[in-house]
Amino acid sequence: MASHFKIILLALCFSQCRADWCYTESSCAPNTWTSLGSCNASNESPIDILENYAQYNASLGPFQFTNYTDPSKLLTITNNGHTVEIEVGDGVSLSAGGLSSVYMATAFHFHWGNGTPGSEHWLSGKQYPMEMHIVHTKNGMNLTEAKKDAAGIAVLGFFIDTKDSANTSKMLSLSKLLQQVSVPGKPLPLNSTISLDELLADVNRSMYYRYMGSLTTPTCDQAVVWTVFKNPIFVPSWVVEAFTTTLKYNVSNATEPLVNNFRPLQPLHGRQVQASFTMQPSVNSTAASTVTPASSVPSSGSIIWSTNILYVSLFLVYQEMANNVI
Ligand SMILES: [Zn+2]
Repeated sequence: MASHFKIILLALCFSQCRADWCYTESSCAPNTWTSLGSCNASNESPIDILENYAQYNASLGPFQFTNYTDPSKLLTITNNGHTVEIEVGDGVSLSAGGLSSVYMATAFHFHWGNGTPGSEHWLSGKQYPMEMHIVHTKNGMNLTEAKKDAAGIAVLGFFIDTKDSANTSKMLSLSKLLQQVSVPGKPLPLNSTISLDELLADVNRSMYYRYMGSLTTPTCDQAVVWTVFKNPIFVPSWVVEAFTTTLKYNVSNATEPLVNNFRPLQPLHGRQVQASFTMQPSVNSTAASTVTPASSVPSSGSIIWSTNILYVSLFLVYQEMANNVI
């Protein structure tokens, strides 16, 4: 079983075994990936998730997370030359949340910038400092099988943002290990020190966006049910700096900083992003009315005006009632 997961881990976006793609060398950067697998196809990832145009879907309920609390399930941490990857052991699974099957977690990894934002997805025009991806395959199938299924892989995406008061984040523990995997090499055992739940502690996992897309690294297979959570994981800024300054990758018999390991935004090509929640409009912000009912996608600012008119009307009615009482 261990070798089974190793195959998945090596074959997903995250292997350094292949030298035919990279992020920052002109000869193999993302603009050269078009000849690799499905990287030139139409329904690719990542995308900019425009909250105003996300469509509420009532069937996107809460997830069921199994063994996310178990620290013994995070086995090793590895610098694979493209990212830092944490291997997840057997028995960690994801279900419900609008998914049609049980998905087994295989690994998670990170994307970051270089003193500039480095998330892969954007949220309403904002790119975050980092992004974390937890990778699962449908019913524990191997990657070859999963790639043939349009929903064979489920990835959970979490934005990572900075807040210097976030000193209790378990991401601190993880970032302290980076020095030991600063260059690509063998996996480092984690010895049951961190659980997935602890890393995700601050995030409201009932508020998320859903769309169908692809792996974000070659071969970019369109087999991914994407879930991107609205609320970020908060970490102190030095955690992000630890990723950008500590990690290296091998190139031409030398090591270079492993930075900017994110794929550029891909066209939406008519895909509809769905949301698990509706947002309450804010009286004070014209950009506040965001997710709308499934039956109506806003085509102009009419909903914002309607909302404002409704609030004014309610206020006048309330004032009239108050006057009558007094
Ligand atoms: Zn990723």
